[in-house]
Amino acid sequence: MTPFPRADYDGLSLYEPGRGPVAIDLSDNTNLWGTHPTALERIRAATTDDLARYPELYADVLRDAVAERFGVDPECVTTGAGSDDVLDSAFRAAYAPGARVAYAAPTFSMVEPFAAMNGMSATAVPWPDALGDAALLLAESPAVVYVCRPNNPTGELAPREWVDQLLDARDTGGARGERPGLPLVIIDEAYGDFAGETLIPLAASHPNVLVTRTASKAYGLAGLRCGFAVGDRPTALAVEKSRGPYKVARPASECAAAAIRDAGGWLATCVAECVENRERLRAELEARGLVPPPSRANFLLCPAPSGSAARDAAALRELGIGVRAFTGIPNIEEGLRVTIGPWPLMESFLEALDRTREART
Ligand SMILES: *Cc1c(COP(=O)(O)O)cnc(C)c1O
Repeated sequence: MTPFPRADYDGLSLYEPGRGPVAIDLSDNTNLWGTHPTALERIRAATTDDLARYPELYADVLRDAVAERFGVDPECVTTGAGSDDVLDSAFRAAYAPGARVAYAAPTFSMVEPFAAMNGMSATAVPWPDALGDAALLLAESPAVVYVCRPNNPTGELAPREWVDQLLDARDTGGARGERPGLPLVIIDEAYGDFAGETLIPLAASHPNVLVTRTASKAYGLAGLRCGFAVGDRPTALAVEKSRGPYKVARPASECAAAAIRDAGGWLATCVAECVENRERLRAELEARGLVPPPSRANFLLCPAPSGSAARDAAALRELGIGVRAFTGIPNIEEGLRVTIGPWPLMESFLEALDRTREART
C-alpha cells in the first residue's frame, strides 16, 4: 500500500503571505486604480449559460485575443486559472523522477512550493552570481529554469542580453535544436505590462521557452483568476495537456480577452500613472536616504535596516498600511515591498513610514 498523502508533502504548507484586512493594502501588487471597465461590464451582463453550461474547453476567446495582441499563432498560446496555474501546469509537464527547478534568488515565492508540489527539488542561485554568469542556472542540469522579469520582489529587469546568454548556454550545452536535450526556460512576465518590453516573440520562435503573463496585476482582474503563456507550438501544446480542459470560466476568458484587446485604453492610462508615481515615490524615499533597487514593475522594494523589515511591516499595519516584508535581498538585505497606486495612497504610506521610523529612533 502507498500511504496518503505522499511523503514529500510533509514539507509543504498552505500559502500564508501574512495578509489580513487593512485600510490601505499595498501588499499584493494588484491594480490600485481598480479594474478594467469593459471587463466589469461583461461580468454585469452574465447570462444563465455563463454559469449553467461548461465554458470553452481551452479558452479559445482568451487564446485568440492573446495571439492577436502579441502577433503570434493561436497554437503558441496556453491559458489557465491565473498564471500560477500556468506555472504549475508547466512544472508538471516538465517533471521526471529526480528533476530540478533552478532559479535566481530572491524571486517569486511560489516557485519553491510549485516545484515541491510537482515532486521536484529547487536550486536557488543568488541573483548577483546568476547575473554574472547565466550558465550557473544550468549547473545542475535542471528540467526547468525560472526567471522572473521584472523580478518580484526587487522589481529589477534582467537585461535582454543576459537572457540571450542563458539561452545560448542552454542551447549549446544540450543537443542544439534537439528538444529532448533542452530544459524549459520560463520567463515570468507578471509585471511585463509595466516594463514595456516582452520576450513573447522570442518564446514563440524558440524551442522550450515559455513566457507567462497574468491578468491579475496591470489589468486589475486578480479576482477572475486568469493567466496565459506563449511558447512555440510543441511547448504550448505540452502545457495545454498538463493544464487540462475547462480551466478558465467563460466570463473570465471573455473579460480578460476584452481587456487584452484594449491595451491602448484604460490599461495604458493606469500603467503611465503607475510608472510616474513609482518614480515620484522613489524620489521621496531617496530624500529619506532609502534607495530601492531600480524597478520596472508596479512596486518598489524600500530598504529596511537589518533585522527590522518584519517589525516595520507590523508597525505600518497598525497604522492601517499593508506592505510585505522581505529578507535576504542582495545589496539591501531587507526591504518592504510597496505596491504603487494613486498618489494619495502613496502619501499615506510615506506619512506612516515616517512615523514608524521616528518611533524607532
Ligand atoms: C502575482 C504573480 C503571479 C501570479 O499571478 P496570478 O495570475 O494571479 O496567478 C505570478 N508571478 C509573479 C511573479 C507574480 O508576482
